[in-house]
Amino acid sequence: MRIGAHLRQDENPVATANELGIDIFQMFVTDPQSWKKPEIHPHAEEIRNSPIDVVVHSSYQINVASLNNRLRMPSRKAVEQQAAAAKDLGAIGLVVHGGHLRDGEDAAAGFENWRKLFERQADKGGFGVPILIENTAGGSHAMARTLESIERLWDAVGDFDEAGFCLDTCHAWAGGEDLVGLVERIKAITGRIDLIHLNNSRDEFDSGRDRHANIESGHIDADVLLELMKTAGAPGVLETPSEGVAADLEYLRSH
Ligand SMILES: [Zn+2]
Repeated sequence: MRIGAHLRQDENPVATANELGIDIFQMFVTDPQSWKKPEIHPHAEEIRNSPIDVVVHSSYQINVASLNNRLRMPSRKAVEQQAAAAKDLGAIGLVVHGGHLRDGEDAAAGFENWRKLFERQADKGGFGVPILIENTAGGSHAMARTLESIERLWDAVGDFDEAGFCLDTCHAWAGGEDLVGLVERIKAITGRIDLIHLNNSRDEFDSGRDRHANIESGHIDADVLLELMKTAGAPGVLETPSEGVAADLEYLRSH
């Protein structure tokens, strides 16, 4: 079972990962609030050569489902660039949020935009790393909040080998999905879970709010998180408040 955490990219993540004794870490390859093209990381060589796995999280404003050209076009470009940076680091994938539409827009067109992302890139030889589509917590027009929407999304992208899935436990809880048996229900749709974002939630079930908590301190029973981790057969990455990450790792290792 590979367990790790999201680490700062502006320090040496391999050194931090070694200090924490983790098997995998997640990082950004650019300022996550910007559209900036990734630059070569000063520790790229070390990241590439390290036996510790790395996964890249894409920047936040990316929304490849959007029906707004001025958001969708730069989003596609950013996914392509950040996937290339992820490949260069030897990453196991690039995590991209499912995205959402606006009031009154046709969900089918959003799923179709996801399909086009993979189709266009396939013509160029693919992204080079799996794109791990992450479920999100809020909104009524999300592409990957509920099992129903994930099913429609997979109808659109499931034929592409580079379409993978990242399950965020906080987002599923806050998004209103029962966590017990969730791994099986998702795998029945996607056939795969490539990564778990192992987070507790500061908010109630179905709150729609995306506020992560440390493993033992949120509203989700820690045993339920352990069960998801055990059944998924995928590496788990903590995106929990950094002051509690060492304790979270300790808890996971001892259970
Ligand atoms: Zn996440």
